[in-house]
Amino acid sequence: MSGKVWLVGAGPGDPEMLTIKGLRALERADVVVHDRLIGTGVLRYAPPDAEFIDVGKWSDWHPVPQEEIQNILIDRARAGKRVVRLKGGDPFLFGRGGEEMEALMNSGVPCELVPGVTSAIAVPACAGISVTHRGLASSLHIVTAHRRDGESPVDYGALARLEGTLVFLMGVAELPEICGGLIAGGMSLNTPAAVIERGMTARQRRVTAPLGELAERAGSEKVEAPAVIVVGKVVALADRLDWRAALPLHNWRVVVTRSDATVQGRGRLTEILRSRGAEVLEVPCTRTETIDAPLPSLSGYAWLVFTSPTGVKSFFERLAADQRDVREIGNAKIAAVGPSTKSAMEAHGLRVNLVPPVYSGESLGETLLSDIRSSGVSPSGSRLLLLRAERGAPGLTRVLKEGGAEYDEVPLYRTAPIARDSDLIEALTEALRDTDAAAFACASSVRSFAAAWPNVRVRAACIGEQTERAACEAGYKTRTAKKATLEDLADAVAETANIETKTI
Ligand code: SAH
Repeated sequence: MSGKVWLVGAGPGDPEMLTIKGLRALERADVVVHDRLIGTGVLRYAPPDAEFIDVGKWSDWHPVPQEEIQNILIDRARAGKRVVRLKGGDPFLFGRGGEEMEALMNSGVPCELVPGVTSAIAVPACAGISVTHRGLASSLHIVTAHRRDGESPVDYGALARLEGTLVFLMGVAELPEICGGLIAGGMSLNTPAAVIERGMTARQRRVTAPLGELAERAGSEKVEAPAVIVVGKVVALADRLDWRAALPLHNWRVVVTRSDATVQGRGRLTEILRSRGAEVLEVPCTRTETIDAPLPSLSGYAWLVFTSPTGVKSFFERLAADQRDVREIGNAKIAAVGPSTKSAMEAHGLRVNLVPPVYSGESLGETLLSDIRSSGVSPSGSRLLLLRAERGAPGLTRVLKEGGAEYDEVPLYRTAPIARDSDLIEALTEALRDTDAAAFACASSVRSFAAAWPNVRVRAACIGEQTERAACEAGYKTRTAKKATLEDLADAVAETANIETKTI
């Protein structure tokens, strides 16, 4: 049985620029063969146990020869694997995607091309440059300034005569030649021009100058590849259209931890940070293992207590696995530690009776005790069932014990550390070194992050006191959210800017 190769455009660096079709292919990949992408974020969509092969290609630097890349694709597919060849931007635009496709077609291996968002358009767009604009430019010309031996040189005279916007890729090293060539070809020294370095990442920089000064300005500001060069009247609008620069976390690269379990509420913190302009690097720290033992009898409890969306998910999975019915819980009330757990529960049609004011185990315990007491029952006469992770945080049970409450505990799942030896971890470690802050929504995520990356120090934004304590123990400098909500946590990220030393 033959596998298949998908040639997928990864987009220009922001993992969310991957197409839905590309995502589908990547999620089911056995092998991912990738270039030196600007963001490792996109690799996170692949199964963590996939084989990742970095062929390290960027511009004219090819550590793995083209032919060998093609052989890797063909051999893996012939071995029955689903292979995703992930290329920056669009695979067919200056990416030698055409050559790879030709080799695949010749080999007879099934293959599919998934076009991508190209840096030639998206990078200017995210720096305030609309490549065409009514009245300013009605055509777009995408040029590579980089010519290999034997290829005919760029005809700058012809380019200078075009009315439209010129976009040059792979041109940083040739910037003086490009500008000089266009000017010699008759283009005005005052033509608006810009170079955008590392577009769509937190490290994006845009240098804007008239064509006559661009090369010098880019040189003195040490602009490096990868960068897109734009020449044309549309550049004059750049400041007015630069919507990205107005976002509060623009230019921030923030680490967010996550388990590999797909749980409800997953990615909400990432979403909030991205909506504020941050580049988010999601790093896996733990994976969730369900505990398969049957659930004990659920009847006769006054309260069922849930402390995570994962707990809710495992609870219902195990009920279903045993062919049992949730009505077993009778009139028991339901407590949830916070809003995500609450909405996970309510998605199953069960109302949650209690959420503590502070989303912590301690606060949950205290709120439960006071609710029980206020209903005129003594805590020891009210049976509670805690449905949570194996070795859950001790705060909840400590408070309940001190209050004299009687409880049973059922471990539903356990969290195990992520496999350390994957290539993905290696790629992430490198990316982690260039980060501005990490946002931690619970103490256990701090601990698992610190365990997974012992050599990385971060400026930590923490959701609450316990998280802060864990972060201090890990040696991180911290800022803590005013209230224990993800929005306030995102505010705390911005406040880490006030921590003097950059500790990563
Ligand atoms: N197929 C890719 C282009 C490959 S050539 C695409 O469609 O985008 C590589 C060049 O693309 C780089 O030298 C640079 O000019 C440009 N490039 C790609 N991603 C970029 C980014 N995030 N920021 C700036 N330039 C980028």
